[in-house]
Amino acid sequence: MRTPLIAGNWKMNGSTELVEAFGQAFSDVTLPAPLDVAIFPPYPYLDVARSAFAGTPVRLGAQTLNPLHSGAHTGEVSGRMLREFDVQYVLVGHSERRQLYRESDAEVHDRLLAALGVDLTPVLCVGETLEERDAGRTMEVVLRQVGFVMARLEPEQRARVVIAYEPVWAIGTGRTATPEQAQEVMAGIREYQAGYDRDLAAGLRLLYGGSMNASNAVELLAQPDIDGGLVGGASLKVDDFLAICQSA
Ligand code: PGA
Repeated sequence: MRTPLIAGNWKMNGSTELVEAFGQAFSDVTLPAPLDVAIFPPYPYLDVARSAFAGTPVRLGAQTLNPLHSGAHTGEVSGRMLREFDVQYVLVGHSERRQLYRESDAEVHDRLLAALGVDLTPVLCVGETLEERDAGRTMEVVLRQVGFVMARLEPEQRARVVIAYEPVWAIGTGRTATPEQAQEVMAGIREYQAGYDRDLAAGLRLLYGGSMNASNAVELLAQPDIDGGLVGGASLKVDDFLAICQSA
């Protein structure tokens, strides 16, 4: 009953050429159904991606947004602007934003709320560092990140959030969480949501992220609480990303 979502986070990578290659590759594929697929390119490629992905199953996502609609905020982009380019999803709270740009839980919440306000589907990213995992604090950290945001939303808003569990130590390292490790945390997130509302928890889409690739995707996606993937490195290679989509 939960439609899987395979999301490709290009981070600060890609080119017009790569956008075109994805458009071509996805123009005549048969994907498993039901399945949602989205690519999150850097901002400058959104417009060309909108044209390249037209007529394909690929939807558009953005990697972050400013919580405000407009104003004197040099370098920032608002959700309203993203909507003009047919963007449907936006990442919030990616660990690189939390670490490199010091985004706090409160800022993550503001961005997520802004996304909902303009009808973007937020993909809330959460995950523990290696230090936190080694200290046995994984669940505490992840549920704090989830709880801070979800507790401040109306039930109707909670139902529109996608959550991506991305252990920080697995991102870009080639070191994937085992399917059991990922399943354990993701079942914990769903269970936590069930504390608010069982139906909501049953419908919540949970993605795994962290060195997902064409070889480990099948096993990860077979876990009962993993409804898709947030793919970084492997989403920059057309064939690998297609193979991951085919595994969903
Ligand atoms: P990775 O990145 O697949 O390269 O580990 C995932 C992410 O950061 O979303």
